[in-house]
Amino acid sequence: MYADIIVDISHENLDRSFQYHIPSELEEEIKMGSAVVIPFGKGERELEGFVVGFSEKPKIEPSKIKDVLRLNAKALPVSSRMIALAAKMHEMFGGTMNDALSTVLNVKKTVKPVEKKTVVLNKNEEETKILIETYEKKHALGKVRLLEELLTQPQMDKSIVTGKLNIAASTLEALVKDDVIRVDVEEVLRKANNKSYKKITGLVLNPEQQSAVDTIVKDMDNGDKKTYLLHGITGSGKTEVYINVIEHAVSMGKQVIVLIPEISLTYQTVKRFSMHFGDRVSFMHSKLSAGEKYDQYRMAEDGKIDIMIGPRSALFTPFKNLGLIVIDEEHEGSYKSDNPPKYHAREMAEVLADMTGSSLILGSATPSLESYLKAKNGEYVLLKLTKRAKDAKEAEIKIIDLKAELASGNKTMFGRELVSAINDRLRKNEQVMLFLNRRGYSGSVSCRSCGKPVMCPHCSVSLTLHNDKMLRCHYCGYEIPFVKKCPECGSSFIGAFGTGTQKVEENIKKIFPYARVLRMDADTTKSKDSYENILSAFANEEADILIGTQMIVKGHDFPKVTLVGILAADLSLNVSDYRASEKTFELLLQAAGRAGRDKLPGEVYIQTYRPDHYSIVCAKEADYEGFFEKEMAYRRLAGYPPLSHILAVLCTGPNEKRNEDFCAYLAGKIKEKLGETGCEDVFMIGPAKAGLAKVTDLYRQLIYVKSENYDILYKLMKFLDEVKDSYKDKKDELLYLDLDPMNSY
Ligand code: ADP
Ligand code: ZN
Ligand code: ZN
Repeated sequence: MYADIIVDISHENLDRSFQYHIPSELEEEIKMGSAVVIPFGKGERELEGFVVGFSEKPKIEPSKIKDVLRLNAKALPVSSRMIALAAKMHEMFGGTMNDALSTVLNVKKTVKPVEKKTVVLNKNEEETKILIETYEKKHALGKVRLLEELLTQPQMDKSIVTGKLNIAASTLEALVKDDVIRVDVEEVLRKANNKSYKKITGLVLNPEQQSAVDTIVKDMDNGDKKTYLLHGITGSGKTEVYINVIEHAVSMGKQVIVLIPEISLTYQTVKRFSMHFGDRVSFMHSKLSAGEKYDQYRMAEDGKIDIMIGPRSALFTPFKNLGLIVIDEEHEGSYKSDNPPKYHAREMAEVLADMTGSSLILGSATPSLESYLKAKNGEYVLLKLTKRAKDAKEAEIKIIDLKAELASGNKTMFGRELVSAINDRLRKNEQVMLFLNRRGYSGSVSCRSCGKPVMCPHCSVSLTLHNDKMLRCHYCGYEIPFVKKCPECGSSFIGAFGTGTQKVEENIKKIFPYARVLRMDADTTKSKDSYENILSAFANEEADILIGTQMIVKGHDFPKVTLVGILAADLSLNVSDYRASEKTFELLLQAAGRAGRDKLPGEVYIQTYRPDHYSIVCAKEADYEGFFEKEMAYRRLAGYPPLSHILAVLCTGPNEKRNEDFCAYLAGKIKEKLGETGCEDVFMIGPAKAGLAKVTDLYRQLIYVKSENYDILYKLMKFLDEVKDSYKDKKDELLYLDLDPMNSY
């Protein structure tokens, strides 16, 4: 028997399997996905590899095939399912097989376990007393001290023995050798979820929630695995639905993965689930130590937990008996990976659900167009929650036209109605959230004489002024002290414009000097606990107004918030991204969902220069269907996903001309290839400068290829990956390929 083995090195040339012979003594043990040690290359260097296939026929001269040396005991036994999942990821999203493997097996190495050692007395009291006498005669005082202690307490932590009792290691060894004592070793798992929460009993579900739960549970009982799109407005009780379905899955002996879009939501989600499922819940994310991650994996594999919560990587938890996957806020862009393989967690979850016969629930107040389309086509089962769960009414949404405000002489960033609404809430002791949808946006500094913004010398973006009087680039971190003179024309009429979150804070403090204000953005949340600190301070009503970016919008539940102000709804519309309207609509609805979640009624003000734009009008009406129809019409017209697919071909390099030539070369190859295969419904756009034309001194050229046929684009992606190195003048130029990108380049 031969094994196909993937060597664990992330290098494109190793992006294939090698055949090794399986020695007969290993034949029983080696399984699909086993981690093995093999001799590699001329030097017979020992490397770690994974078995990805078996064959009986040698692919080359049998005498040239080397033997597998041994199983790699150091690595987690990896189920073949995970390897198969990696293979599928590779097939769907490109990149190297090794990238896919290291994504799926992201915690494969054993980290040294934490061990608890206990010293135990092996003799009875009488025997021990005799031994003590003997040792006293021999002046073996250490042994005497330990045995006397063990007489009163026959089991002791080894750390106390070597620490407080000051017993030498050699003394312990001698006693173990003579069988007087033994040292028991027990492995202790590093629990990520180490807080304990008060248990609560479930709420009585309302009819919509109950019917959603019943539908899913019935299918589960019938062994009928399906994908459900749970479309429920914010606060409609989607999480309660998940909890009830999970309860059922767990009672069937199944295990569950719950994906959340952001690390910052871990704490509250874990808390909520732990109140139902206690310490059967754990979580996993990139901020955990390698040891903690490894132990969460082991607990999952050993069945010590039932529920794993985390961002997209938690999908690869090695549960043996997976039965349900939940993806909360399924529309979020963070479910697509930025690094190769640029997989989408929703699509991989579908694959995993198929492999394991698991049910899949996608939940959102604003489903992605992709998912909603599938639900309409009957591929997904559509479940709706149309009412807020608590008696709370939906918030009332009002639009403030900033053009009209300006025309009537209001030059501030707050519409007059909004200011009076804030005043009203401060008086009533209720809370306010003010939301600005891009960090430091146009905290940019420009010259009032020549009009030029101060740019980052390494990236094609303007620098942003921060409170510490430094100008910073948000892409590369470049910083300089605030310039007093325009670098272009020397004029001293230079200053910061626009409305960064800091600026909002300053102005709010001017207008409402007595208000207590908190700000949450990338600058105030650099340390590990800062999210939790700011959010819990606001929840404890230590502040009246919370100002923030995107991150205050998602999922948080503050009962005292009755007013939400969206200061500049257009900012996210003005970006060159075909998803701009969708993102704006989502953000507005999510932000609106923060107001009036409890008994107090909520109000939302949307400030905008484009009050007629459909994403704003539909958000005001909370009209998802209406938005879906309009946006689909636009996508159809322009040939954008989900009705069509896009391949982004991005070339970067330090030399502008050379990079352009490289990109032009690839464009030529694309045309050639498409000509050959006679594809008529494929369109190439570009090459052109990317929206972000330069980042960290690297120039960026972009080609978009559109087609309704995913396969063609996939093949084109593979093809480009192969031909890129055939370009003779290529030096430091790099190629990035992204199928159906979530972000603009
Ligand atoms: P979503 O996940 O859809 O935003 P949640 O599950 O967080 O909604 O529910 C919103 C609020 O309503 C929470 O405070 C939750 O405890 C409460 N809630 C949910 N379902 C019910 C119910 N059936 N009865 C009473 N309160 C409920
Ligand atoms: Zn100037
Ligand atoms: Zn920069």
